[in-house]
Amino acid sequence: MSEPLDVTPDPALTEKVVNLAKRRGFVFPSAEIYGGFRSTYDYGPLGVLLLRNVKNQWWRSMVQMRDDVVGLDAAILSPPAIWAASGHLTTFSDPMVDCRKCKERWRADQIGETCPNCGSKDLTDARDFQLMFKTNAGPVEDEGSVAYLRPETAQGMFTNFMNVLTTTRKRPPFGIAQVGKSFRNEITPQNFVFRTREFEQMEMEYFVPPDEASTWFDYWVAERFSWYTDLGIPDSMLRLRPHDPDELSHYSAGTTDIEFLFPWGWGELEGVANRTDYDLKAHSAASGERLEYFDQAANERYTPYVIEPAAGATRAMMAFLLAAYDEDEIAGETRTVLRLDWRLAPTQVAVLPLSKKAELEPVAREVLGLLQPHFQCDYDVTQSIGRRYRRQDEVGTPWCVTVDFDTLEDRAVTVRDRDSTEQVRIPIDQLLATLVGRTSAH
Ligand code: ATP
Repeated sequence: MSEPLDVTPDPALTEKVVNLAKRRGFVFPSAEIYGGFRSTYDYGPLGVLLLRNVKNQWWRSMVQMRDDVVGLDAAILSPPAIWAASGHLTTFSDPMVDCRKCKERWRADQIGETCPNCGSKDLTDARDFQLMFKTNAGPVEDEGSVAYLRPETAQGMFTNFMNVLTTTRKRPPFGIAQVGKSFRNEITPQNFVFRTREFEQMEMEYFVPPDEASTWFDYWVAERFSWYTDLGIPDSMLRLRPHDPDELSHYSAGTTDIEFLFPWGWGELEGVANRTDYDLKAHSAASGERLEYFDQAANERYTPYVIEPAAGATRAMMAFLLAAYDEDEIAGETRTVLRLDWRLAPTQVAVLPLSKKAELEPVAREVLGLLQPHFQCDYDVTQSIGRRYRRQDEVGTPWCVTVDFDTLEDRAVTVRDRDSTEQVRIPIDQLLATLVGRTSAH
């Protein structure tokens, strides 16, 4: 884990990436035909693939590659009892101030003493603003029907602790992982999908014997840091930031954020927290159910401590896009290229028949059919081959496979590499093995 190097963020980068995202179908402003809707976003054909790949890579490393973590998918609508016990009803708020001059509202901890909109210093005192979205479940709108949209996925893991323990026979140290939507009525959503009111989280609660908590905390900080670097974010764009005692969440005995160097400065990608036995004890007291582990060997009952790596999927996706964005020069022409790891790239292989002529189609479709079970593929016959390479580079496709008229004679195709632009001729019957070979480092 390295200390941050001296990296200067490029302020123009956000705009370039936001434009690319819109132009190429990664992320659209939501409800655009109605003028947009308050910092909400829709993920388009390429964005949905990239976001899914981010979540799949998280799941792969957190669940599939381990034997001590299981998955969960809990309800988003939840009763007030959960949020009363967890402490969110009373403490999940941000300090809000109003500018008396221009009437904008701000998060007091983000702006200091001056309104960023109009420069006035005439601000109200800060007051707490509850961040949870409140709604009513069922046809009657009264106090008894109040429900909340979850502001984090974590509570589902605590309320299901006994269900998971008894059905899986796991024993501490073990974890429960979940990926899903969370909702926060943020006062100032900002910076594209960095902070939105509806977003996706990837969280894991790792239950451990209390005296092992600090060891596992260090383990998960290191593990999670290397997840980002392994998927292509340079060390120099990441840093660890331990929280000061006065900024810790109400449940945390220690939190370290993994931060990314966004174009506007360092920002949190993920928080790793030692939640102690706060949540299990709180839910146990409020529900009257025992939420403990009975260690048969030691003949002892205890409430595990929890180490929680809590990441944002949509925020991570944005970081991967920013880190991957590059411009270089190929044959005197500037090209835009997303240097995404092949595991994250929305399209992994593009199959490109050199011409629209009908005689190329059967063999091109044969190649597509050969690759589709193994890779997310695109099939594109429009425009010149050079333009099509550029379009694929711009969205991060690692490999293009071109079918040309020689293919009809020699049953070979050209494989072009995104980063080096190097082209090699490969027989169709070795194509799959060749491409799988290029991925096999992971
Ligand atoms: P912040 O201080 O930025 O408001 P937080 O510390 O409250 O975030 P956590 O509660 O630790 O965030 O949530 C875990 C992760 O969920 C964050 O690291 C982030 O990646 C993601 N996340 C939280 N809030 C949002 C949001 N409004 N939009 C997008 N992602 C979010």
